[in-house]
Amino acid sequence: MATTIPYKIYLEENEMPKSWYNLRADMKNKPAPLLNPGTHQPMTAEELAPVFCEELVKQELDNDTAFIEIPEEIRSFYKMYRPSPLVRAYCLEEKLQTPAKIYYKFEGNNTSGSHKLNSAIAQAYYAKKQGLKGVTTETGAGQWGTALSMACSYFGLDCKVYMVKVSYEQKPFRREVMRVYGASVTPSPSETTNIGKKMLADFPGTNGSLGCAISEAVEVATSTEGYRYVLGSVLNQVLLHQSVIGLETKAAFDKYGIKPDMIIGCAGGGSNLGGLIAPFMGEKLRGEADYEIIAVEPRSCPSFTRGTYAYDFCDTGMVCPLAKMYTLGSGFMPAPNHAGGLRYHGMSSTLSQLYADGYMTARSVAQTDVFAAAEEFARVEGILPAPESSHAIKVAIDEAKKCRETGEEKTIVFGLTGTGYFDMYAYEQFHDGKMEDYIPSDEEIAASVAGLPQV
Ligand SMILES: *Cc1c(COP(=O)(O)O)cnc(C)c1O
Repeated sequence: MATTIPYKIYLEENEMPKSWYNLRADMKNKPAPLLNPGTHQPMTAEELAPVFCEELVKQELDNDTAFIEIPEEIRSFYKMYRPSPLVRAYCLEEKLQTPAKIYYKFEGNNTSGSHKLNSAIAQAYYAKKQGLKGVTTETGAGQWGTALSMACSYFGLDCKVYMVKVSYEQKPFRREVMRVYGASVTPSPSETTNIGKKMLADFPGTNGSLGCAISEAVEVATSTEGYRYVLGSVLNQVLLHQSVIGLETKAAFDKYGIKPDMIIGCAGGGSNLGGLIAPFMGEKLRGEADYEIIAVEPRSCPSFTRGTYAYDFCDTGMVCPLAKMYTLGSGFMPAPNHAGGLRYHGMSSTLSQLYADGYMTARSVAQTDVFAAAEEFARVEGILPAPESSHAIKVAIDEAKKCRETGEEKTIVFGLTGTGYFDMYAYEQFHDGKMEDYIPSDEEIAASVAGLPQV
């Protein structure tokens, strides 16, 4: 059967996934459990309940159920912006003169501009179902805060966002989008929490950090009646919700009998990558198929490629549970890289275990190379990519060029997680030749991981 693959492979509404896929069910070595920071014992559902919604705690701790039904209300919301297209990058292939077949799964077709809405709507749904008044969270670059504010307004929940101060000031338009959706946005560190006050006293003039904003959001959630904290990446539950990306990708490929050779995604906390690879990794874990899976991270924040696999704090205030992950240390201050969504010091514990067991590889790339790849992509494929997503583009292009040398007709798919309209300052720096490639020294990383908790 000679089929021509269309530019965009769409699924019909009735072909969209009805369940999320929980990768952990097929892992022989399960991800290490979250530990209580005081006792160093595995966190129980009771201990997690004051912080997270009940149903999400269940999902977080469930290492065994392979398929978890997506509630009807969430599926209805998904239908407003999903299925997302799986695009064949014909124009990029032509430009690169490569025999490789390149596909990308585009998650930027919604107002939040990223894949984060897939989990935001799920988390808001469970909060509403539990009868909560609202949720708190942190946001760095702003995509997660935007996605969550959209989800909360849909379900009529209050949404309190702690936004890393430097982003709050540099990305006023992101902040306003959140306010359109009714969220209250506070620059972090702030005077509204004890940890915020302490940070401001200890480091006057600080720009803030994701780790600190997390601590503030958790403090407010646990001290305000009817509120819980929600997180946009890293956690098992978030990877579970993001599996919708991979399930759709696989269903679209299956329609045309295509099996990718290589799957590439950018990795900040690991949620989009974990979601994209989920059903493929499942096949790999069960010994049914093999795929080359590559995580791409910034050279300025190289958790996988230069981090230590150990228990660490998830936040600066050290109030969150400990997670075992590839980490640069919770005190690591990444240089001002423009891919804000990739600046977290740690990595999903699920992906960390898979990486430790050799099921996937990782590469780090320099930011100027990333922006060059972003532009090369934008000029032929039309879409203006987010800096985060462009890490995956960079490696996809590198691999397609290798195929040009070897003549291999590999099928490559990468996650195009979002659009970059709010990142024009970064593009400006790149155009004006002012962008720097900051690479932390071995000493810097060693000093930071020296502060890891003794577990
Ligand atoms: C947040 C974000 C990322 C990184 O987060 P992960 O949890 O690693 O997926 C990547 N791309 C975009 C556009 C983002 O907003």
